[in-house]
Amino acid sequence: MEKNGQISRRLVLLPCPFQGHINPMLQLGTILHSKGFSITIAHTEFNSPNPSNHPNFKFLPIPDGLSVQEISSGDILSLIQRLNVNCKLHLQECLSQIVTGGQQDDIACVIYDELMFFVETVANFLKLPSIILRTTSAATLIARTTLAQLKLEGLVSLEDSVSQGPVPNHHPLRFKDLPFPISRKLESFSQLVIDMYKIKTSSSAIIWNTMDCLELSSLARIQQQYQVPNLPIGPLHKFGPGLPNSSLLKEDASCMAWLEKQTKNSVIYVSLGSIAAMDEREIVEMAWGLANSQQRFLWVFRPDSIRGSKNEVLSLIFKETIGERGCIVNWAPQKEVLAHSAVGGFLSHCGWNSTLESICEGIPMICKPCFGDQRVNARYVSHIWRVGLELENELDRGEIEKAIRRLMAGKEGEAMREKAKNLKEKVELCLKEGGSSNNSLNKLVEMIMSF
Ligand code: UDP
Repeated sequence: MEKNGQISRRLVLLPCPFQGHINPMLQLGTILHSKGFSITIAHTEFNSPNPSNHPNFKFLPIPDGLSVQEISSGDILSLIQRLNVNCKLHLQECLSQIVTGGQQDDIACVIYDELMFFVETVANFLKLPSIILRTTSAATLIARTTLAQLKLEGLVSLEDSVSQGPVPNHHPLRFKDLPFPISRKLESFSQLVIDMYKIKTSSSAIIWNTMDCLELSSLARIQQQYQVPNLPIGPLHKFGPGLPNSSLLKEDASCMAWLEKQTKNSVIYVSLGSIAAMDEREIVEMAWGLANSQQRFLWVFRPDSIRGSKNEVLSLIFKETIGERGCIVNWAPQKEVLAHSAVGGFLSHCGWNSTLESICEGIPMICKPCFGDQRVNARYVSHIWRVGLELENELDRGEIEKAIRRLMAGKEGEAMREKAKNLKEKVELCLKEGGSSNNSLNKLVEMIMSF
């Protein structure tokens, strides 16, 4: 492809095939495309993105060899391990065809999700520069390496995942805030952490979807350990010229029409992201907590939100009680929802994308972390950035009702809303010309051009 008489340089981007990883990678692709690069998304067959939503990108499917049983097991750790083994040769073959095939635009570099670490070996083999994208908070890297280290030293076990005790030298984290994996397999988790965060990376840089104004000290601590530049260029979804729609589920836009009918700051938005699920008891507690709060709510209830029994839990009685006061959808256009003036709070599992999206709109949060990095993010939201409060115990309708009232109606909530507004302004400064994320993005572009 030629642009202004110059051959444009191609970047191959390889996301990890989960919603919270696909979104930032495709956002990064959109940003780099706007800087003049051609973009190829190399992707697994599992959870493959929809090319028609991204007409400017080329797509390169990589066979992933995952069986239906593996996919439906819900064991994310072992899925990631399988992908790192299964995709290696296939990616190598696909890329070497491009490299040796004399195609018009050369590959300037490969950018890969930190969880798809096999890519580094492939890029080295083909003598292609590579760059890592980290899609979590910087605090999560520190917490993950801490947990893995404690495990190696025999100083932590699964019982500690509920302990209130402080983690030494890791204020404000308690043991229960450490990123224990959903599978509860601490040994596999430690191995993954070692593979993912190898200190002597041969990749040229590490891109972060975070920003100095949120995580300066964690980023500085991490930079001391790596020889390559760490480039925080977040929040990626706010940089782009136009947001790509990378939802794997179909968005139900009817909730936007419902939001239009609500008054300013009156709605609590409830979503646990793309993976976390609840059992039937928790869903019943959540439903009645929402109903009893008397607050208007928009609840994302994915078809697979419920673990175990598939009874019709959101029963007619509940739906009749809430009437027009609540809106329930399978999947929402979340960024649009959070940007709507009717939304005044977010009851969230605190996945990193959701946390950033909430912060960027100045929306205070009720944190209900379920596993992994969500625990770390929730602690930072409530105790470092102080733009939310955490539901600490088992889900209980009384506690949910109380938390919603505190956030949406009380003085405490007002203070958090004010803090959230200030934080939003700081984030906006990071993105502007001369701001830290903008500067890091310029460095990234210069670096890629120098390859
Ligand atoms: N999301 C969405 N609609 C929904 C729920 C979630 O578009 O109804 C998006 C959300 O905006 C975010 C992503 O899905 O970008 C979820 O990522 P996150 O890191 O928050 O959580 P995960 O799904 O990885 O647990």
